[in-house]
Amino acid sequence: MSVWHCDLCGSERAQPFSAHTVRCSDCSLVATHPTPAAAELQRRYGSGYYAGWDGGGARALLWQRRLDIVRRFLPSGRILDAGCGAGEFVRTARAAGYEAEGTEFSDAARAAVRDFPVYPGLAEAPGPYRAVTLWHALEHTPSPTDILSQAHSVLAPGGLLFVAVPNLESYWFNAAYRLAKGKRLELYTPKTKEPHLFHFSRQTLRRLLDKTGFPPLLEGCDVPDADWRYRLSDWPARALFRLTGVNWTTTLFSVCVADDLSRMT
Ligand SMILES: [Zn+2]
Repeated sequence: MSVWHCDLCGSERAQPFSAHTVRCSDCSLVATHPTPAAAELQRRYGSGYYAGWDGGGARALLWQRRLDIVRRFLPSGRILDAGCGAGEFVRTARAAGYEAEGTEFSDAARAAVRDFPVYPGLAEAPGPYRAVTLWHALEHTPSPTDILSQAHSVLAPGGLLFVAVPNLESYWFNAAYRLAKGKRLELYTPKTKEPHLFHFSRQTLRRLLDKTGFPPLLEGCDVPDADWRYRLSDWPARALFRLTGVNWTTTLFSVCVADDLSRMT
């Protein structure tokens, strides 16, 4: 196995977890290994990656529900959607009066945006912002620690972070998938449409947020998926979460406030 450094704790000790992934022996963070090269990732996020996600009522509702959550904490102001993709959330927020901008790694996605400012990364975004949103983007990045540290840097004092990622502990959905397809759901394969480079549990996400200066105000699960089949198969886990607080749903979601005292250098 080639050299591996844990993005969360810096450890170099890891064990194979599943095909193409390892788990840190010290903090249990699960990561895709080896990480695909930047050029390979750029190729995978070509225009075809976004083609299936252009609008539709269910997806519009999903973005509206996410904005409704943001509005509960921040009724207006300047916000940055990191990993904005084709820009659905930015447009939803702008239509509601927010001064919203985006960042996007994909050259193809960025080139297609004409109607709002979009930057290649957080380092290029001209802060300060009142909030940064990361809707299923953090798991696609080669270093979540770097992304969250950069998010901290572009936020105004007391700024907010909204982060949603897939849940490694989505036991219910994984069981349903195995039953329906007769095979296990792989975290990563070289042909997966969604190249997830990190696979967070509630514990590893919380530790990452603590490390980068983002104590959570709220922890839970993301709004229901736009695809009714995913919604249906995740429903029992969402009911369990509401009753017990145990999160076996397909997603993790946190709202955090940037902590000045633990700001990283
Ligand atoms: Zn680790």
